[in-house]
Amino acid sequence: MQENKAIVVGSGFGGMAAASILAKNGYAVTVLEKNDMPGGRAQVWKKDGYIFDMGPSWYLMPDVFERYFALFGKKPEDFLKLERLDPHYRVFYSGGKILDISAVLDENMKLFDELEKDGAKKLREYLDNSKYQYEIAMEKFLYKDYKYLTDFFNWKLIIDGSKFHVFSKLDSYVSRYFESPEIKKILEYNIVFLGGAPKNSPALYSLMTHVDFNLGVWYPKGGLGQLVNAFYELAQSQGVEFIFNHEVTRIKVENDRAVAAVTDPVEFQADVFVMNADHAYVDLNLLDRKHRSYSEKYWDQRKIAPSAILMFLGFNKRLPNLKHHNLYLLDDWDVHFETLFNKPGWPDEPCIYICCPSKTDSSVAPEGHENIFILVPVASDLDDTDVIREKYFKWVIDLLQRLTGEAVTKNLVVKRIFSHRDFKSNYNAYKGTALGLAHTLRQTAVFRPQHQNKKLRNLFYTGHYNHPGIGVPMVTISSQIVADVIKREM
Ligand SMILES: Cc1cc2nc3c(=O)[nH]c(=O)nc-3n(C[C@H](O)[C@H](O)[C@H](O)COP(=O)(O)OP(=O)(O)OC[C@H]3O[C@@H](n4cnc5c(N)ncnc54)[C@H](O)[C@@H]3O)c2cc1C
Repeated sequence: MQENKAIVVGSGFGGMAAASILAKNGYAVTVLEKNDMPGGRAQVWKKDGYIFDMGPSWYLMPDVFERYFALFGKKPEDFLKLERLDPHYRVFYSGGKILDISAVLDENMKLFDELEKDGAKKLREYLDNSKYQYEIAMEKFLYKDYKYLTDFFNWKLIIDGSKFHVFSKLDSYVSRYFESPEIKKILEYNIVFLGGAPKNSPALYSLMTHVDFNLGVWYPKGGLGQLVNAFYELAQSQGVEFIFNHEVTRIKVENDRAVAAVTDPVEFQADVFVMNADHAYVDLNLLDRKHRSYSEKYWDQRKIAPSAILMFLGFNKRLPNLKHHNLYLLDDWDVHFETLFNKPGWPDEPCIYICCPSKTDSSVAPEGHENIFILVPVASDLDDTDVIREKYFKWVIDLLQRLTGEAVTKNLVVKRIFSHRDFKSNYNAYKGTALGLAHTLRQTAVFRPQHQNKKLRNLFYTGHYNHPGIGVPMVTISSQIVADVIKREM
């Protein structure tokens, strides 16, 4: 019997995972990627002895990777040297306070007791709920395809919904437990990684505190680029063919079926097509109007997750006072969140993330140097100019000098800034988003764009626009779902 053919457009984690599972399920799979390397938003940039992860830097939800590699009889350790970071991260508050979140739960209990009366007791209770939510989510919610409203709003959700906190907001949920502004920020900051804000995201995402405090923050030696290599190697071992520097410009349709992915100059025919490129981009640029799953108006009305100003900086000296992961959080962070979502614009003063992987890994910077990755979250669809980039760069350098107590300007030996226009040109990111589609209640589960195209039965989508959403573990799950949907539908 002739093998069925599948084309995957895009070699992000979502594309590589979908390709591997389809190959395992018997398809002859080709991945078409516009760039010259795999990984999508997790590309790696090497310069003068520095190795910069250009996207993800937190290895979270290790259980998801174990489950994924197990599909192929493998373990993450077959590819990666993983280390649990301790502390998980350091928080610098703009008022001057500095806190470390430890890998040891008892240490965090002590810290919470110092920050608030009965802080440890409350944290225990909060974590019990967060663990419950995570386990239910893993078992019943995350690995499931939602096609119809009734798949989501069934009697069970309505009964369990309040316990599961689907219908309340993260910010008010956290405030039910804690008063300390420092604690609240520790329990809410990670919603930004899901492209949301504490005031507009479902409290269900408090499960991220279980991820953070209990499952731990991990690091693969060599950086997250090693996880890209692991997915790539695994895909190749399943027989997946990768073709780089091939941008798909159109999906050719005949008799209401996708028949070919068109690149310049070659067309690739197949039986099944999986789109890992941004869902909005595919709809608006690769498909005729009548074959789009969603219209231009639909996309324009979605809450698109933030973009970011990324800075890749190399310093020829060590920088004291920083840990591997560092968060700089404004005491009044609502102002920054306003500019991210409600009134999109450039923040006067942002909350930022500073990654310094050379604190744990000598392979990512020359000896005695420091590798610094800065992420300034900013709204998508802003006019990103060199003047604005330089303004934030100067602000970041001032902040680094304050946080480290060192003059750093003269020690800067590598500098690259990457923002909206690079997200667009590198990844075809809709409105220059870094993260895809935000996680609001109206964009959760059944309300996220569907995995199967509504007009073309043999065209599917996987990645950070689809359920379950943003983040490397999530897009890996998304591809497991899409492979099941393809099995069911084809
Ligand atoms: C700065 C940053 C930091 C992050 N930090 C973390 C973190 O610490 N931990 C975490 O888990 N997640 C993190 N994330 C989120 C995570 O990286 C993403 O959710 C995930 O990588 C998205 O994967 P994807 O496969 O859906 O899409 P992508 O990675 O965007 O892959 C899509 C691919 O499609 C290709 N493509 C687009 N158009 C075409 C075309 N026409 N033809 C061919 N190819 C095309 C693109 O080039 C790209 O390679 C971060 C993201 C960013 C940007």
